[in-house]
Amino acid sequence: MTFSNNATEPIPSGPLPRRASRGVLVQHGARKVMVGGDAPVVVQSMTNTDTADVIGTAIQIKELARAGSEIVRITVNTPEAAAAVPAIREQLDKMDVDVPLVGDFHYNGHLLLRDYPECAQALSKYRINPGNVGQGAKRDTQFAQMIETAIKYDKPVRIGVNWGSLDQALLARIMDENAARAQPWSAQSVMYEALITSAIENAQRAEELGMRREQIVLSCKVSGVQDLIAVYRELGKRCDYALHLGLTEAGMGSKGIVASTAALSVLLQEGIGDTIRISLTPEPGGDRTKEVVVGQEILQTMGLRKFTPMVIACPGCGRTTSTVFQELADNIQTFLREQMPEWKKTYPGVEAMNVAVMGCIVNGPGESKHANIGISLPGTGESPAAPVFVDGQKVATLRGERIVDEFKTIVLEYVQKNYSREAAVS
Ligand code: SF4
Repeated sequence: MTFSNNATEPIPSGPLPRRASRGVLVQHGARKVMVGGDAPVVVQSMTNTDTADVIGTAIQIKELARAGSEIVRITVNTPEAAAAVPAIREQLDKMDVDVPLVGDFHYNGHLLLRDYPECAQALSKYRINPGNVGQGAKRDTQFAQMIETAIKYDKPVRIGVNWGSLDQALLARIMDENAARAQPWSAQSVMYEALITSAIENAQRAEELGMRREQIVLSCKVSGVQDLIAVYRELGKRCDYALHLGLTEAGMGSKGIVASTAALSVLLQEGIGDTIRISLTPEPGGDRTKEVVVGQEILQTMGLRKFTPMVIACPGCGRTTSTVFQELADNIQTFLREQMPEWKKTYPGVEAMNVAVMGCIVNGPGESKHANIGISLPGTGESPAAPVFVDGQKVATLRGERIVDEFKTIVLEYVQKNYSREAAVS
């Protein structure tokens, strides 16, 4: 192997071009969210409240929307849940929360959509799992009933296949076809094929029943990272439906975050995926909005979208024994995130701002100068002073107990000066 210090061409950067897909409009009143087409990748989430609990569900939807979820899915599993959906929508509208709602239906969706027309109307999209719409001859009829309801109310659908609830008749058919091969495929390949076939055949059936291709989103969820990548690469090649990405049952804590990030990053880098949901299992009593934050951070750290100003913080090391910079980094990130629902309206473009919080002089001033605003805290043995940099220039040196508050004031002044609508015009 030969080595060279000089590239002959510029080093390429960024994801591959987005796979072409039909844009699907998910709408509530004036709020329009486009999934696929030229639209940016959409972050969505799902509640874990009992949908029959109108107030509890509306509050959680509001929290998810405030965290940045652009679509929220709720389970509609019982008559009580279906009856609650219009009341949830009404509560949200009263609170000025216009996020579109998706109803997640299994087993009895055809009945609930028929018996609760106000639920069918209040939802902005229906999720249909073709593995859970009935058995035998009833399957086709019940699937058709749900699609006909979607057509009647002009709602898009997601045909969401899941390997835990794969259509058994279809799987048996694919296995028979495999057995007839001269060289049968592995069980894993048969499973991939069954997932993809189920999604595409059901989407085609929905089109035969009268849905437009621009009203159909597909998903094929599995819980293994390599399985998800393999399935979506192939699914993406075989159709131009908009695709919903997500690792199902990703798990708890860091495992769920890492597994989702690993799988989704590969696919998004290849231009595959139009909307994402991170299926984290919350800690007991944990915050459901975490799945929204993780989804946003995947897209933002990959440079695909910007949602909230990012804090660049060093990990700390033996050069700093104080926890001040950890507390400051955490405090500032929380502060920025909490401001965003209001800042989005008042300070357009603020989501692109970078803030550096660094622990000592080694990388502190350099990293701080690269950020819009940066602070380099004193490491062990350094003089107890924290230089602050704004757009690369040192503007202040902070000391003492009030460093956090004073730094927040500098951040706020920077935001007001650089991102207010007046600043954008001038
Ligand atoms: S900036 Fe300083 S404290 Fe932070 S990791 Fe680097 S050497 Fe350690």
